[in-house]
Amino acid sequence: MDSRLFLAKPFQLSSPTQVIKARLRKGEYQVVLRESPFEPDNPEGGDRGRIEGPHGTLSVRRVVWDGNQKAAIHSGDLTGELHAGEDVVAKVDETVRRHNGAYHTVSHLLTSIARERWQSDFLGKLTLTESGGDLTLFGQAARAAANWREMAEPDRYLGADIPVLIYKLSRTEALNRCGQFFDSVVPDSVAEWRVVQFQGIAFPPIPCGGVHLPNLNVLRGVNFTRSRVSGDDLVLEYTCDYIPA
Ligand SMILES: [Zn+2]
Repeated sequence: MDSRLFLAKPFQLSSPTQVIKARLRKGEYQVVLRESPFEPDNPEGGDRGRIEGPHGTLSVRRVVWDGNQKAAIHSGDLTGELHAGEDVVAKVDETVRRHNGAYHTVSHLLTSIARERWQSDFLGKLTLTESGGDLTLFGQAARAAANWREMAEPDRYLGADIPVLIYKLSRTEALNRCGQFFDSVVPDSVAEWRVVQFQGIAFPPIPCGGVHLPNLNVLRGVNFTRSRVSGDDLVLEYTCDYIPA
């Protein structure tokens, strides 16, 4: 099974699990779990959570996905000891998850609004920065740069009771519902797609393996700090105001 628990149970932040491997490497402790609620490979710093065992606790500072082992490697500072075979509890820091989920969910919202208003199939990619989020809209989005602010207005959705649904679709069904242009985006090897949809809004579902808010009612506002054109792409820099975890 896939050890990335957040894919199957996206809003679960804590899980009883078991240590598969624990080792000290280059001065840093690395732990592999049978199942992990942590999202690997997102860029924020600081404490991301804890792995609590009977004789020690790892403060998790970094989580990376190892494609060869098909496992998340949790790194950080160890107090006490953790050993392979031990039962532990893995706990994601709620503040970190809320922050990532808010920025990531807003990136889908903005991309969906822009796609609908501009009648265009393009993709959005979020980069989290120290000051907020940078959303790059790819694929001729730059031509709409002059009037993006009127066209990509998220206010009507912010704070509304709109659950964020996460479910799986076969590739054929996903292409029909998400848009055929995703055929060249999602590798052929992915037979079953995890998709995200805002309940009750006509936006098509979006294929995604990220972390999200459970509901848009957590959002209080989005403030655009800068926009810039980069070749054919449009980059929107924003900060989110959300109800803390
Ligand atoms: Zn997503």
